[in-house]
Amino acid sequence: MPTQGSARHPTVQRARRPTESANLELPFGDTTPPATAPPLVPPRPTLTLLRPAAAHCHACPLWEHATQTVFGEGDPVAKLMLVGEQPGDTEDRTGRPFVGPAGRLLDEALAEIGIDRRETYVTNVVKHFKWTPRGPRRIHSTPTAPEIAACRPWLDAEIAAVHPEGIVCLGATAARALIGRDFRVTTGRGELLASPLARFVLATVHPSSLLRTPDEEQRREGMRRFVADLAKAAAAIGGGEGEGEMGAGGSKVAGER
Ligand code: SF4
Repeated sequence: MPTQGSARHPTVQRARRPTESANLELPFGDTTPPATAPPLVPPRPTLTLLRPAAAHCHACPLWEHATQTVFGEGDPVAKLMLVGEQPGDTEDRTGRPFVGPAGRLLDEALAEIGIDRRETYVTNVVKHFKWTPRGPRRIHSTPTAPEIAACRPWLDAEIAAVHPEGIVCLGATAARALIGRDFRVTTGRGELLASPLARFVLATVHPSSLLRTPDEEQRREGMRRFVADLAKAAAAIGGGEGEGEMGAGGSKVAGER
């Protein structure tokens, strides 16, 4: 059970199995050596340099059937970074992350706690849309561990460039990639975990899971918990409803960087 901190700055828990970005651990038990993107990542990367470099990435096969690389976007010095799994159909067509139905739900949830998404930085673990055809539709397909590992240098470079205070993992793929392969969103969601990647990492569900919930009552409850998780992350950096501008009032948690 997590130790409770103050309401405004809840205590950060230690991550069970933090994944050191310099010593990448393949999630899901896959040991296949990945092709990766490091040769493409510019030295001293900034978002301005990273975006066009990633546009030409062919480090794994996913680019072949996708329209374009969907790089992260938002405040380049955001205190809060939101990380999902991969772009979806709408994102693939527009080239922007979280602009489809799940993105609109994310915007709604953030608005409920008084946060404009533009104050955050939003990205994905994998930058190309992986899909399988079903009739005329393109259906989301979960990326494999080698594909996630291949794309990881782009995410690490984004984290290094933005240097967020907190990272919110949206869904199991992001949580396992950034927290550890044994992490379970069902049991570990909503906890502030200390991490080598940022002052804290917090996992919650992916908003697309709420869209898939058929029962109206369950969907409302799911949204309520999703908003509560986001509110906890926002409070930990001094943002959100009643806390003034995003990132204006965040304070250090004892013993953390
Ligand atoms: S998914 Fe990532 S690693 Fe694979 S081609 Fe796209 S940008 Fe490169």
